[in-house]
Amino acid sequence: MNAHVESWGGLSVETSGLLKPEAFLDDSRASGGALPYGNGRSYGDSCLNAAGVAIATRSARKILSFDETTGLLEAEAGLLLSELIDAVAPKGWFPAVLPGTQFVTLGGAIANDIHGKNHHRKGTFGCHVTEIHLDRTDRGPLVIRPGDATGLFEATVGGLGLTGLIRKATVQLMRVGASSIRQETTRFNDLEEYFGLAQEADDRHEYAVAWLDSISRGRRFGRGHLIAGDHETEGGHPAAGSASPLKVPFTPPVTPLQGPFLRLFNETYFRGAPAGVSTRTVGFEKFFFPLDRIGRWNRLYGPRGLHQHQSVIPEEAGFETVKKLLECTQANRHGSFLTVLKRFGQVRSPGFMSFPRAGYTLTLDFPDKGSPTLRLLQELDEITLAAGGAINPYKDRRMSSATFKASFPDWQRLETLRDPALLSDFWRRTALN
Ligand SMILES: Cc1cc2nc3c(=O)[nH]c(=O)nc-3n(C[C@H](O)[C@H](O)[C@H](O)COP(=O)(O)OP(=O)(O)OC[C@H]3O[C@@H](n4cnc5c(N)ncnc54)[C@H](O)[C@@H]3O)c2cc1C
Repeated sequence: MNAHVESWGGLSVETSGLLKPEAFLDDSRASGGALPYGNGRSYGDSCLNAAGVAIATRSARKILSFDETTGLLEAEAGLLLSELIDAVAPKGWFPAVLPGTQFVTLGGAIANDIHGKNHHRKGTFGCHVTEIHLDRTDRGPLVIRPGDATGLFEATVGGLGLTGLIRKATVQLMRVGASSIRQETTRFNDLEEYFGLAQEADDRHEYAVAWLDSISRGRRFGRGHLIAGDHETEGGHPAAGSASPLKVPFTPPVTPLQGPFLRLFNETYFRGAPAGVSTRTVGFEKFFFPLDRIGRWNRLYGPRGLHQHQSVIPEEAGFETVKKLLECTQANRHGSFLTVLKRFGQVRSPGFMSFPRAGYTLTLDFPDKGSPTLRLLQELDEITLAAGGAINPYKDRRMSSATFKASFPDWQRLETLRDPALLSDFWRRTALN
């Protein structure tokens, strides 16, 4: 039976069916082309495979073991990070790397080798994975570890779900005094000021990320907040507040996230932090996952969905290139609703296809307005590549094959290690095109 599968940017496909993870190696439908599907929090088409079946991993989500003395946890790949946090935070442990939403699966976190606000200290999610149980249609069930001779561990971390089905994995958690965060917010008045602050914030804090007002011009160009934080040293894991009842109930015919509303939002948000430096203690959900408080917020981008453009730029070209990228969005009269700038550190991921590399990463969100948006995104790609940077594949649904291959020169290594039964719309569109 056909099944409807969606990604977060608003793409949807009718796959030819859903498979349970335990059926992957035996079900003949898999050989016609399959793809693991976690919780669909990738923005583009890297989690979609219109021509085949989706392996719906959420049905297997048990925590299999947790050693409270070492912080080693083994779980099935369909476990959400929110469920993982619920289980370990009361015992003083926390995932070492968290993305901007807690509703991603363990398998999805590994396959995209996700990054968080502490990349400068902890690297990517894959740096904390010690073992993976991988099912492959050509080699059967395997257990892979960092550095093993197959090369499959390095290919699976950041391997976009193409090297096999991750059935379970072991991760090293980090010890924390409390899950709540001592947050330090520095309001900066322009982009240059941010670049003067970023490195020191990384040196002093576990977490650091900046929100930018992408539409401000002149003396205020690139103004924003640098939001840094560290776990409180004591206080444990206070019970989370009741889940937010807020949910966007339907997709509006036209996105409100543009024009005067966007200007008002940016102005209000910017003024929401006092000038200079301010500190306060916030719950971990507020610090890491502010967007999770509004269910299905992606609907606000309208019926055509949204494009997220995430680039990474080598450190030395950071300021000039981020400036050009912002100027380009302004010249194209496209406001980015949520604009985030972060400095990636030097910690190397084990995954050879991982997106993060030392430098600055800029994330821009645009409602899809058809060809003007596609032209803008292509220009942003060109600026990024000219600076020696790369574009994030799991946020993308339209980058050219050439852009992908320039961003990931090792893509052929992944193609060599791909499970022949697995394919995604993204891989077909970029690598195999
Ligand atoms: C609000 C928001 C904020 C975000 N913030 C960040 C951020 O800060 N940093 C960041 O890096 N990302 C971020 N993301 C992106 C998100 O973290 C990743 O796309 C993540 O991988 C999604 O996980 P998922 O479980 O939803 O997987 P899906 O999106 O369903 O799938 C992702 C990939 O993993 C593969 N996969 C899934 N399960 C398995 C498995 N068991 N075995 C093999 N392959 C598998 C799929 O085939 C696909 O290629 C954000 C997304 C949202 C919506």
